[in-house]
Amino acid sequence: MKTSLNPNAKDAATRDALVAEGGFGKYYTDHMVVCEWSEKDGWSEPELKPYGPISLDPATAVFHYGQEIFEGMKAYRQPDGGIGLFRPQANAQRFARSAKRLALPEMPESLFLETVETLVRQDAGWVPNKVGESLYIRPFMFATEVGLGVRPSNKALYMLIATPAGAYFDPSKAVSVWISTEYVRAALGGTGEAKCGGNYAASLIAQKAAAAQGCDQVVWIDAIERKWIEEMGGMNLYFIKGSGADATVMTPKLTGTLLPGITRDSILSVAVDLGYKVEETMISVDDWRDGVASGLITEIFACGTAAVVSPVGQAKSAMGTWITGDGQPGKITMQIRNALLGIQHGEIADTHKWMHAVI
Ligand SMILES: *Cc1c(COP(=O)(O)O)cnc(C)c1O
Repeated sequence: MKTSLNPNAKDAATRDALVAEGGFGKYYTDHMVVCEWSEKDGWSEPELKPYGPISLDPATAVFHYGQEIFEGMKAYRQPDGGIGLFRPQANAQRFARSAKRLALPEMPESLFLETVETLVRQDAGWVPNKVGESLYIRPFMFATEVGLGVRPSNKALYMLIATPAGAYFDPSKAVSVWISTEYVRAALGGTGEAKCGGNYAASLIAQKAAAAQGCDQVVWIDAIERKWIEEMGGMNLYFIKGSGADATVMTPKLTGTLLPGITRDSILSVAVDLGYKVEETMISVDDWRDGVASGLITEIFACGTAAVVSPVGQAKSAMGTWITGDGQPGKITMQIRNALLGIQHGEIADTHKWMHAVI
């Protein structure tokens, strides 16, 4: 990898003070990685360089037609001071699938991993130390052909940046959700399975509608029957049926319109490890509302790389308003959250071989 180090890299004391502030996405590490692709020459040698702005022609394709994809992954400090990535191969594979759907080049898994490992090693001092904290890593790629013709770009730029993520989990606060019947996130054949900026651009108006209803997040239902629960904002959902050792941990089935979350996939295994039955199934808004009323559904949480696991409390919709649980995070929700965080921070045996040591 080509390397030019940042002559203005933060000194350790300044950096540690910024990391200690917590938060998310406010500060970026000293370096980034860039890698160019062209149809003619394929992938260039990646370059580690100082974090900073880039310059693009105003006619660059991504500004006009939105050909862009991204990933989100984390590096966690380990008890021995080392640093581990959580299932980075899964991010590499999903990045390639998203690229294919958006007619962008599929980056080889080994190249993707090399860029991530190089940035994390270089900026290792930015990885926080406490459980629940991490370094959030954002790979992304966009079309860079210059011109307004509508066609798959013959040039692309891959970039990698990273930001320290504090422990922003507040166990006393469950997320409230607005079930959107007005807007649709994804339909079969569309881009719902791809991690692309366009999905988010189209979702913001529903997020605004949720906020206008006093809710934190939007819950998406399917495009055709308008009744099957799909996701919450940029996270997958889990429903707990029953309680105690007999509980079933359920999540909406991947129908082709949901984003296949790596956290979602990991929880399917973690729940089994904890002795629960798991089900990937179709869950309707009626199942949710009636299940809460009858006491069958006891807990709900959302999951994703950024927040790991977030309890969901109140649901509001055109079909009524209801609250799952007692407004406190559920027992099983917290058990799953702690088990997953324990593996990520190297405090619980990594029986699935999910952790990838970087240092
Ligand atoms: C990224 C994302 C998720 C969560 O995926 P993870 O791999 O668990 O981070 C869920 N839904 C959407 C729409 C996403 O973009």
